[in-house]
Amino acid sequence: MAKPKDVIIGVDMGGTSLRTLVVDAANKILAVEEIPTRVGQKPDAIVADVAAMVRRAVVRAGVKRSNIRAVSIGVPGAVDPRRGIVHAAPNLGWKNFPFGPKLKALLRVPIYVENDVNVGVVGEHALGAGKGTRELVGIFPGTGIGGGLIVGGKLYEGCRGSAGEVGHMILQVDGPRCGCGRRGCAEALASRTAMERDVRAAIRAGEPSLVLRIMKERGKDRMTSSVIQRALKKKDPVMRKVLKRAQHYLGLLVASVVNLLDPECVVIGGGLAERLGEDYVGPIRAAAYLHFLNPRDKARIKIVAGRLGDDAAPLGAVVLARQRLRQRRRR
Ligand SMILES: [Zn+2]
Repeated sequence: MAKPKDVIIGVDMGGTSLRTLVVDAANKILAVEEIPTRVGQKPDAIVADVAAMVRRAVVRAGVKRSNIRAVSIGVPGAVDPRRGIVHAAPNLGWKNFPFGPKLKALLRVPIYVENDVNVGVVGEHALGAGKGTRELVGIFPGTGIGGGLIVGGKLYEGCRGSAGEVGHMILQVDGPRCGCGRRGCAEALASRTAMERDVRAAIRAGEPSLVLRIMKERGKDRMTSSVIQRALKKKDPVMRKVLKRAQHYLGLLVASVVNLLDPECVVIGGGLAERLGEDYVGPIRAAAYLHFLNPRDKARIKIVAGRLGDDAAPLGAVVLARQRLRQRRRR
């Protein structure tokens, strides 16, 4: 068999695990590697982990080093893609860290450093739920609420590279405190963190709920997507109420971005959308429709769950790297 050429490696730097895909020119995944993120380690130790993981993945895929065009990485935080610098990635404990140059010194191939949600949105647009659309908004509710925009078929980055932060659109003036320090952002009302805060408040107020017991049974100190799914299966009244409220706010958020951009597709990604599917997205869609300024042909705007799961970010990183390599060749 001929060895695959034009291979790009996509990496997703999560706060709990690092995931690597080796991908050929037809976007076929040749190998997958995943390792836990050693949070608390020095940044250089994590860079070494990434380099070792990438090398293992390349060996497993049976790809010659000379056929690797680039390694492209999604990082949870603010980055400067041009210089490969991570301005701030709180989950990794990084600040103004020259990740791209450091990794390049170890792997000696072109390195692209991108925001993880942006690459996730590129992945869903190119290969997942938003395939074939020109305008798309990605919303990824999780610990926070990440977002990204595709305009004219391409990632829209804004003049400072910080576009698409739909999670910090303000839905409630003077509302609850957000992770960003401000008040009333969508993230403070509808992220998993916001839902956990509301569940705990309801329990403190004496409402009966199984959520804390489920967390204990599963050895979780946070209300993860799997805990939420289990509580819903048990018809936990607090969980149902809190989820409904989060879906209402997410519906307002979707409607606001639709009123602004009129995109063909809104992809709701992340763990909850993946686990609950239509049970999660359906009520969000219904709430959104009620707040469309233009209700005509509303079903033309697809509001759907992401399809690629954990592969959205690393695959999107690969797609984006290919675009950047093409641009470089043209210059
Ligand atoms: Zn915020």
